[in-house]
Amino acid sequence: MLIVDNDILLVERQLRQGRLSCPSCGAALAPWGHGRPREIRGDLGARLFLRPRRTRCPGCMVTHMLLAEASWPWRADAAEVIGAGLEIAALGMGHRQVAARLGLAEGTVRGWLRAFAGRADDIRRYFTVALVALADDPVMPDATPSTLADAVSAVAAAHRAASARWPQMLTVSRWEFAGRAIGGRVLTSPSIAI
Ligand SMILES: [Zn+2]
Repeated sequence: MLIVDNDILLVERQLRQGRLSCPSCGAALAPWGHGRPREIRGDLGARLFLRPRRTRCPGCMVTHMLLAEASWPWRADAAEVIGAGLEIAALGMGHRQVAARLGLAEGTVRGWLRAFAGRADDIRRYFTVALVALADDPVMPDATPSTLADAVSAVAAAHRAASARWPQMLTVSRWEFAGRAIGGRVLTSPSIAI
């Protein structure tokens, strides 16, 4: 699986020009049909329809799905919606309050928070390293009593540093940036796929 730009025409061009590399061996991926269409819940009840592109690596002979950065694997909600939930939770709110704010089911939000808790330490570490690499004069976010909030702050700080360095990054939301940077693994995989 590869997380790619939301712009399908751009991705198609990158694919045709051999500019998308296999995550395992680095060979140029070749077009290989499409996956099943997915419907993603966006902000304020918007519905996004995605038809993931399937590709094949001529080196490993393995197929890899291309997933638009608006979404994360196995999740029915857009990256931005889940990210907003994580940011609300970072303010100290529990899953019920987050769910009420977003107008979503409590079970869905509880699933995100649990899955993020399993990744929070790795995410904090990854984006702290990214911040140091990207910023000329990195300012470390203050530590908070919560691992979740520390991870959320690290993502925000790294995104700010990336946007200062590459202004085109400003058009990519922080959570799309995060998913793109770590191959969509912002949340752990659930045992049951949605
Ligand atoms: Zn390969």
